Amino acid sequence: SLKVAFLGLGAMGYPMAAHLAKRFPTLVWNRTFAKALKHQEEFGSKAVPLEGVAEAQVIFTCLPTTKEVVEVAEALWPHLRPGTYWVDATSGEPEGSRKLAERLLQKGVVYLDAPVSGGTVGAEKGTLTVMMGGPEEAVERVKPYLAYAAKVVHVGPVGAGHAVKAINNALLAVNLWAAGEGLVALVRQGVSAEKALEVINASSGRSNATENLIPQRVVTRAFPKTFALGLLVKDLGIAMGVLDGEKAPSPLLRLTREVYEMAKRELAPEADHVEALKLLERWGGTEIR
Ligand code: NDP
Repeated sequence: SLKVAFLGLGAMGYPMAAHLAKRFPTLVWNRTFAKALKHQEEFGSKAVPLEGVAEAQVIFTCLPTTKEVVEVAEALWPHLRPGTYWVDATSGEPEGSRKLAERLLQKGVVYLDAPVSGGTVGAEKGTLTVMMGGPEEAVERVKPYLAYAAKVVHVGPVGAGHAVKAINNALLAVNLWAAGEGLVALVRQGVSAEKALEVINASSGRSNATENLIPQRVVTRAFPKTFALGLLVKDLGIAMGVLDGEKAPSPLLRLTREVYEMAKRELAPEADHVEALKLLERWGGTEIR
């Protein structure tokens, strides 16, 4: 019978693979194997050694970067079977993925880039947005298996999904930082963050940062670790590659990347991306509350 496989049970992969396991026989693999065994116990998936995933008709990956996806593909290489679809949910790099797609095609494996947005909450709820790059026919074939998605958009050939994802995350970064700058000033002036956000979120300056991230994570001082700062900086690097590759004007996004590189150095790659605002709070001598 048809099987799917999921490789990389991290903050995103673990709950994404759970949605697959509810609908299809699902093989799971993780570098730290204990997580795969825990997933098997919790969701009825089947933990297998890496070569075991080659049995699946659809192989999903959700790893930090394209580098790790290429490593895993090379390790799996001797076991891969023609007719397999590879759905890469990593926020990866367009050029490296095009090379990987060509290499996999030598084995008759069709690679699709399929990064996701919606965070760990969206992954748990199964309401992620998926942006796919690849041949139309293959996209249609795998769509029924994207059990973790509420919306799937085919954006272009291989690499296009990664490009859209990188630009999306650059917008997340610029919105979050810009809102932080404005709020520090308002709080210093005596307007509470809560009041300021009440206005902004019923006004034209609102964003996911002002509607969700800042009220839920900064104002509450909860700062949960869901999406590492290092991964966002990686996405900003990919976005710069997209912009520079087209010689597109990018003064603001270039500056945004610099700012987050600085935050990563000052805090740590493992800090949550929202903690970047702690740097602004430190400079401004006030908390966004
Ligand atoms: P995590 O750091 O939580 O998980 C990373 C996963 O990759 C783990 O399963 C880890 O295994 C595995 N891994 C790391 N290095 C290797 C390696 N060399 N070989 C094999 N496996 C490896 O990351 P996330 O789940 O947060 O992110 C995954 C991808 O999804 C990234 O590209 C990220 O940018 C993107 N993303 C993240 C979102 C979020 O909100 N967190 C939202 C949307 C996209 P191990 O358990 O052994 O460490």
